[in-house]
Amino acid sequence: MHQPSRLILTADPSSGALDESACHRVRNIIETEPRWLAPGAAVQFETEASVTRRHIAPALSGLPIDINVVADCDRAKKLLVADMDSTVIEQEMIDELASLTGRRDEIAAITLATMRGDLDFKQSLRRRVALLTGLTTAHLEEVAAHITLMPGAAPLVSTMRANGAVTALVSGGFTVFVEHVAARLGFDRHFGNVLDVEAGRLTGRVFEPILDAMAKRDLLLDLAHECGLAPANVIAVGDGANDLPMLEAAGLGVAFRAKPAVRTAMLNSPTGAVIDHADLSALLHLQGLPSWGG
Ligand SMILES: [Mg+2]
Repeated sequence: MHQPSRLILTADPSSGALDESACHRVRNIIETEPRWLAPGAAVQFETEASVTRRHIAPALSGLPIDINVVADCDRAKKLLVADMDSTVIEQEMIDELASLTGRRDEIAAITLATMRGDLDFKQSLRRRVALLTGLTTAHLEEVAAHITLMPGAAPLVSTMRANGAVTALVSGGFTVFVEHVAARLGFDRHFGNVLDVEAGRLTGRVFEPILDAMAKRDLLLDLAHECGLAPANVIAVGDGANDLPMLEAAGLGVAFRAKPAVRTAMLNSPTGAVIDHADLSALLHLQGLPSWGG
C-alpha cells in the first residue's frame, strides 16, 4: 500500500503554460482528475508516493512548470522558516550596500560564490563587511527604502498566519534590514547578523557569533521545539548554500529560484520541493492552501 501523495504543478500565470492541455498530459499518466488551487498558477492531482517528478517531467518537457510531489500527511505546516535575501526580497542587501562604496562588482562576486557554496560563509561575511567600513547609518536607511518584496511573499506570510502558523524570518543578512522586512511582511519572529556601528558609521565588523548555515538549522529546530512541533510540521524556504541544512531539517524544504547545489539537493530529497517558475505563493499550494491571489 503506497502512501497517498499530491502532485502539485505550479507556474507563473502570465506564462500561460499551466492550462487544460498541460493537465490533460498529466492525467494521461496518473489517471486522476486535476483540482485547481489558483487558476493558471497551481493545480493538484491525488496520487501515490510511488509517482515521482521523473514520471511526469517528460510530459511537460520544455514548459515553465514546477513539478513537485508532497506527502499528504501533515501537509499544512505550522511553522514557516524563511531566508530573506533573494528569497522573500528580490535583493542581496550586502550587494546593495556595496554599490554605495563603488565596489559592488567585487562584493557581489563574493556573495554569489558564497551562496553557491564555494566559500565559507563566516569568512566570506567578515571579508565583505570589512569592505563596507565607513558607510553611515543614513546609507543603511537609504538602501532599506529600496527593498522590493518577492512576489507572493505577502500572501505567503499572511495566509500562513491566518491559518494559525508561526512565521520566522531567519537571515544571514543584517538585522537592520531583517527588522524592516519582518515588519513589512508581518513575520512573528526574526533573526539576523548585527553590523557593528560606532558614531553612526560601520566599523567593518559584524558581531559574533555569526548566524551561519548551522545556526539557521539550529534556530529552525529550536523554534519548532518552542512551538511544540515536530520538524515534520515545518516548512522552510531558501535559495543559498547557507540555507541547505535548514531545508534538510524541515518537513518540507523548498529551494526557491535557488543556486544549483541547493536546487539539486532538494530535487533529490524525499522532503524537498523546487520552485523555479512560480512565485512564493506556490508554498501555499504545496501545502494544499489556496492563495489570496496577491
Ligand atoms: Mg538568500
